[in-house]
Amino acid sequence: MKIDDQPIPELPTRIMHGVGVSPGVALGIAYVHETGGLSVVEYCLPADRVAEEVERFRAAVQGVTEDLGKVRDEARRLPEQAAEEVSFILDAHTHMLQRSRLVRGVEALIAGKRINAEAAVKRQIDDLVAAFSAMEDGYLAARAFDVRDLGQRLVRRLGHEEDATFADLPRQSIILADELTPADTAQMDPERVVGFATEFGGTTSHTAIMARSLGIPAVVGVSGLTRSLSPGSTVIVDGTEGRVILNPTSEQMAEYRKWRAAALRRSRSLNRLRSLPSVTRDGYRVALMANIERPEETNPAVLAGAEGIGLFRSEFLYMNRDTVPDADEQTAMLTAVVERMDGQPVTFRTLDVGGDKLSRLFEVGAGPNPAMGLRAVRLSLARPDLLRTQFEAAMRAAVRGPVRVLLPMVSSLSELRQCRVHYAEVFESLKRAGVKVGDEPPPLGVMIEVPGAALNADAIAREADFLSIGTNDLTQYTLAIDRSDEQVSHLYDSMHPAVLRLIHFTTEAGRRSRAPVSVCGEVAGDPRYTGLLVGMGIAELSMAPPNLLQVKEQVRRIETDAANALVRAVLRQSDGEEIRRLVAEFNAEREE
Ligand code: PEP
Ligand code: MG
Repeated sequence: MKIDDQPIPELPTRIMHGVGVSPGVALGIAYVHETGGLSVVEYCLPADRVAEEVERFRAAVQGVTEDLGKVRDEARRLPEQAAEEVSFILDAHTHMLQRSRLVRGVEALIAGKRINAEAAVKRQIDDLVAAFSAMEDGYLAARAFDVRDLGQRLVRRLGHEEDATFADLPRQSIILADELTPADTAQMDPERVVGFATEFGGTTSHTAIMARSLGIPAVVGVSGLTRSLSPGSTVIVDGTEGRVILNPTSEQMAEYRKWRAAALRRSRSLNRLRSLPSVTRDGYRVALMANIERPEETNPAVLAGAEGIGLFRSEFLYMNRDTVPDADEQTAMLTAVVERMDGQPVTFRTLDVGGDKLSRLFEVGAGPNPAMGLRAVRLSLARPDLLRTQFEAAMRAAVRGPVRVLLPMVSSLSELRQCRVHYAEVFESLKRAGVKVGDEPPPLGVMIEVPGAALNADAIAREADFLSIGTNDLTQYTLAIDRSDEQVSHLYDSMHPAVLRLIHFTTEAGRRSRAPVSVCGEVAGDPRYTGLLVGMGIAELSMAPPNLLQVKEQVRRIETDAANALVRAVLRQSDGEEIRRLVAEFNAEREE
């Protein structure tokens, strides 16, 4: 029996509001995800399994010690002071693994309480964290973080990592959490997870972006969501209206069924556009591409009719793992995407870790302002080994089909120039070593997502092979509004005149230098913006695959003359409200 056919138990209904960040309505069973602590399952062991369990734990300790050794080797390549700092932390971790209170305590728990190793680690870690946190000495109190980190490594090594819990969820699960990281979201299987809601997070946070890519309805910024929740409750997540309904009434369930039928009708009607070209009414072609985070998303992108990959966020290749993917591994992953795209371009963006996208492989995100710290191309230039590995992978994969390489968060021309030097050197050294590469290196482009880069786009466009406008960060940095902070979500506005002027300035700069300009931020997949972007002369939009058909529908309703006139009128405005009104009027005139 499916969940929506089940009788509704008499439990109090609660409606909570937040910001809908991924449209659609989902009905499912609540799975409450706790962050901060370790989430593991505890079970009892038969007496004859205790010794074996202690051995399993010892093997995990040995494994983690080896992992730490590898991380220490990698850390040697960091600048001197950072290397020293990291190795100091790693020494402390390694020390904790040697017959310490932690290790002895876990073994005693396995033997004494006859519980599984994961649960014993959790109990012991919780005790130690509590003891450290209570210490008055700030330095010692901060060690609680190290202890928890070590606990996570041990649990992962035992094979029941915290992250993997999402992969094991039953079908029709809805995740309710205080917070989800992009790395968490990257593990969700839409076959199992049908929706999620969180207390924290903003509209263009990467967690929200992932939800849209996966087509999972999601609501963020739901205040008080995780208080007094019971796992297993029936829940509706309405990502269109920004609502979460706990223990829905029969009327609300009926409403949900009506919505589902309407959504099915809408998707059937959009499906008719699949084989039609993406052209305006007057025959202007607008290429619709896909944004992907993981190679597995290529297939859905092709099925949705993407004409290429406009943005492959390679940082997701570095998440949920303990080692940096080397050139061979990245080449293989990228080659698989290139081959699946069968002659259509694949835009491989170099590592953009930082801000809300963190990976346990890098010590980024710890600075006073991670969104503006050592991240993206800045990190790649500080760690040229990372950059060169990615350049190599792109050049090797390019023999199987068209590849473009895109640099994130460029803020000055000199960053592009430094990258070009590495680019040329990697290309030459591959050729010298007899590695198969193309006659020319793939085109090297720049993301325009920092206002300083947008205002300098004319100079950048003269030296970059193409530009791609990242409206998510461009909006964040232009308006000084954190894209992942729910408290200021209502102020985050890509129709702000300052943002539109920067987009316009960039497209004009590209046109003058004949550098193609695309848009790969979230506005590219929002049909409300299509008229504006086409009117500015943008011929390539890259978006989450589920948005492709609705954007195509809008492209096919537009005449370029009218779109150009809309842009002229909009650029004369100084008020976002008025812009929204003009754009809404333009769009309404084109709806059937
Ligand atoms: C952007 O900033 O608009 C963009 C496409 O990059 P990301 O969302 O990955 O930061
Ligand atoms: Mg960005």
